[in-house]
Amino acid sequence: MNWLTNFVRPKLRALVARKETAENLWLKCPKCEQMLFHRDLDAAQQVCSHCDHHLRIPPAGRFPHLFDEGIFERHALPKVQLDPLKFRDQKRYTDRLKEAQAKNGAGSEAMAVASGKMGGHAAVIAVSDFGFMGGSMGMAVGECLLLAANLAVERKAPMIVFPASGGARMQEGILSLMQLARTSIAVSRVKEAGLPYIVVLTDPTTGGVTASFAMLGDIHVAEPGALIGFSGQRVIQDTIRETLPPGFQSAEYQFDHGMVDTIVHRHAMRETLIRITSLLMKRPAQAAAA
Ligand SMILES: [Zn+2]
Repeated sequence: MNWLTNFVRPKLRALVARKETAENLWLKCPKCEQMLFHRDLDAAQQVCSHCDHHLRIPPAGRFPHLFDEGIFERHALPKVQLDPLKFRDQKRYTDRLKEAQAKNGAGSEAMAVASGKMGGHAAVIAVSDFGFMGGSMGMAVGECLLLAANLAVERKAPMIVFPASGGARMQEGILSLMQLARTSIAVSRVKEAGLPYIVVLTDPTTGGVTASFAMLGDIHVAEPGALIGFSGQRVIQDTIRETLPPGFQSAEYQFDHGMVDTIVHRHAMRETLIRITSLLMKRPAQAAAA
């Protein structure tokens, strides 16, 4: 028995563990199903080298590629009241939050805020984290957007938002719906200060997020292939009892129908955003290249 538990079991565990690590280094592209090496994928900002599919990317993967020399300050998120409705479905809402924070880092939420320089000028960027409860918008996300808006106004900087969300956070009920109004107020603060507010629609931007801050941009940029819509395709199809056209709710479809101003490859995002903000801030062209 001792020999089995002390010698055989650890050997077996080591074998299994090694296999898991090796597997984790590879990822299958959800579009073309080619195998992608993790390190290559990270270097390519989660863009498939075979079919150019833009995979979902967390805020920590995005920020270094947007700010000058990858230098930025990530802001601590304001505290909000936890689970005021004492909500429970299969699990307690507080347990879901704990799990998500254990996975994504202590103090994290479905949105992260960072500031730094872009093209030599101050910029404030808020990025949704779809990996945190589907990027759902609760009170914390509302606070994040207010924080970002206040920072932008304080620093006379443009505000750029990358939404990726399933919509409002149902565990917060009416309080999550109130964030539609709160985030719209946050956006209006930036606009009243005469500063640009740019939205980069990423996969997926849906529900209450589409119904609020994600559709209020001065310019709407989208990533290729991103799903952008309010309610899901099946719900719409069942309601209007008509078959929807192919590619419905894709970034390309929304571009063709005037909902999106431009579709930009992730690798060209930083320079495009610098160009757009420089134009809107009426800065000389040289500044954009700096
Ligand atoms: Zn692919």
